[in-house]
Order: sequence, then structure tokens, then C-alpha cells
Amino acid sequence: MAKVYYDRDADMKALEGKTVAILGYGSQGHAHAQNLRDSGVKVVVGLHEGSASRDRARADGLEVKDVEDAVRMSDLVVFLVPDHIQAEVYRKQVAPNMKKEAALVFAHGFTIHFHQIIPPSTVDVFMVAPKSPGHLLRRTYQEGKGVPALFAVYQNASGKAREMALAYGRGLGCGRAGLIETTFAEETETDLFGEQAVLCGGVTELVKAGFETLVDAGYQPEIAYFECLNELKLIVDMMYEGGLSWMRYSVSDTAKYGDMVAGKQVIDSRVRETMKKLLENIQNGLFAKDWILENQCNRPQMRAWQRREKDHLIEKVGSELRKMMPWLDAKNAPED
Ligand code: NDP
Ligand code: MG
Ligand code: MG
Repeated sequence: MAKVYYDRDADMKALEGKTVAILGYGSQGHAHAQNLRDSGVKVVVGLHEGSASRDRARADGLEVKDVEDAVRMSDLVVFLVPDHIQAEVYRKQVAPNMKKEAALVFAHGFTIHFHQIIPPSTVDVFMVAPKSPGHLLRRTYQEGKGVPALFAVYQNASGKAREMALAYGRGLGCGRAGLIETTFAEETETDLFGEQAVLCGGVTELVKAGFETLVDAGYQPEIAYFECLNELKLIVDMMYEGGLSWMRYSVSDTAKYGDMVAGKQVIDSRVRETMKKLLENIQNGLFAKDWILENQCNRPQMRAWQRREKDHLIEKVGSELRKMMPWLDAKNAPED
């Protein structure tokens, strides 16, 4: 089992007298900037010209500067801009302006692990990755609690990178819940695998396959929607609160028996082989290369896929049915 670090293992002195530039003020950026500031750390927010986030950061009482200026005055530079633009921001705005012995900080390992940023040997490079969206990170901090986070050191030029990572995690409030040490490789590869095989790719295709099987057999799409998509939330909430056993304890015995006989037939050895292949393509860099190239040519494949997915029957049926459920605060994804 992993060793867990708490506030008592982290000394805020590691960040004393240092200025932290938070680049980006989105989901993670707004929470990192405000939590660190409220923990007594000197923070400046770096944003591009015309960024819609500037006003929000100022309204939250933070100092906002151009990325270049924020980097120049800071000892830690935190990359909380979207992953696919981090390399360009680094090349054009960070590298020419950063202090020789600055620390580069990340909340996800992709750009470093896949060599999109190759930092000079004089800088520290570490990661603190809260295991939650930014709004939860901020809210729990304000409640005197925290969310768990991972931390990792990639490059320790000063010899103090690990202490700084722990202090940063404590400043975020994550030391109240627990900090788990990892590596850039482990965090990046498991994150990509999780979203591909289970959380995003796996779940959406499982839902669609179940829905299509019922609709093709002549059942009403509305009924198929409830069974294969809507009820997923109830199941996931139970797993979130008490693991697989709590969910199984809570569903009917018939559902439990069905789980037992059917689960391994759906996720059979072929699916497990496919998962291994996906992991291999993450580990060998093929997935990263394809994703980087896709971005460089303006995402033609992804846009075509999004168009097709938007027109799926499950989306049309769902948007009507959600109107019958006013309590769930129905959302519509913006047009791409
Ligand atoms: P968001 O998309 O929510 O926010 C991005 C921010 O960057 C926005 O404020 C945006 O400003 C700003 N921005 C965009 N382009 C530039 C630029 N050229 N220069 C400066 N600022 C820019 O990102 P996330 O918070 O989701 O992700 C940030 C990092 O955190 C990523 O590495 C991600 O993997 C990681 N992470 C995210 C988690 C999450 O739950 N979201 C969880 C854990 C890690 P504008 O207002 O102009 O758009
Ligand atoms: Mg993840
Ligand atoms: Mg991810």
C-alpha cells in the first residue's frame, strides 16, 4: 500500500519568500491560486491577453499579469493551462523569461513525461495533482477540509523539490486529506489508461452498446435510455460511497445474480486483451504522438467523431427525457 503524507509531514517554510506564478485560471488554476494565497503563499496569476479569466481572477482579489511578467517575478511556475498548449506556452513565454533556478510545477504529467517540454537541468520539476475538479478543491479548502492529491518529483536540481511539492500540496489543503507519492510516468500512464479504457471510452461505448441492443430488439428508446444511461448514476454513486460490495449489497438479489453471470461475459478475455493493447500504446508513446499531431492539424478526426456522436439517438432521446427531471439541472454541451 502507498505511503500517505499529511500536513504534519509538510513544512510551509519550503515556500517561504517565494512567489508562485499560476498560469491559467480555469478549473484547477482558480483553486490553486486562491488556496495557496489563503495559506500565506505569495501568488500572481499569469494569463494571455484578452483572456476571459482575467476579470474573474481580479474579482477574486488576485494580482493578474501577462504570462511573461508573471514568470519573470516568480520562483515557481505552475502550468494550469490546457495540456495541449503547455509546450507552446513554455517555449514562447516561459523559457525565455524564467529564473535560472525556477521550479516548474504541473497538475498532470503529460507534457513532461512525453517530452513536449524538456526543462534545463538547473530547474526543479514536480507535480501536485489533486484528485478532483478545481471547484471541489476550492470548496473543501474553504470548509477546512481537503481533497487527496498525488505528488511526484521529476527533476530535483535544488535538492528541495520534494519539500516544495509537499508544502505546495499542504498549501492547497490536500495535506488534510492525504498526499500520495507517485512518478510522472505512473500518474500520466494511469490517468490516460483510466479515461480511455474505463471512465470515458469504456463507459460511453458500454452505454451505447447496451442502448443499441435494446432499441434494435424493438424496445422503446426512452426505456433503453433509463436502463442503460440514467441509472448508471445511481450505481456509480454507490460504488463511490462504498465500493463494489456496497453497490452489490444495495441492489436486488436478482441484479446481483445477473451481475455474477453476465459481467465476465461482457468484459471477456478479448476486452482484457484490448485493454492491454491500449496500455501498451500509452506506454510506448503512440497515443501521445497521435494526440499531439491531431492537435497540430486542428483536430479533424476528433471533430468528425464529435459531429457523429452528437447525432446518436441516445443523445436526442436523452435531451428530451432530462426535461422530465427538473431536479437534475440538465445541461447541454456547447456546439464545437
Ligand atoms: P481549464 O481549461 O479549466 O483552464 C485553462 C485556463 O488556461 C483558462 O483560464 C484559460 O483562460 C487559460 N489559458 C488558455 N490559454 C492560455 C494561454 N495561452 N496563456 C495563459 N493562460 C491560458 O484547464 P484545467 O484546469 O482543466 O487544466 C489545467 C491543468 O490541470 C491540466 O494540466 C490538467 O490536466 C490538470 N488537471 C485538471 C483537472 C480537472 O479536473 N480539470 C484535475 C487534475 C489536473 P481563458 O479564460 O482565456 O480560456
Ligand atoms: Mg484522471
Ligand atoms: Mg486526464
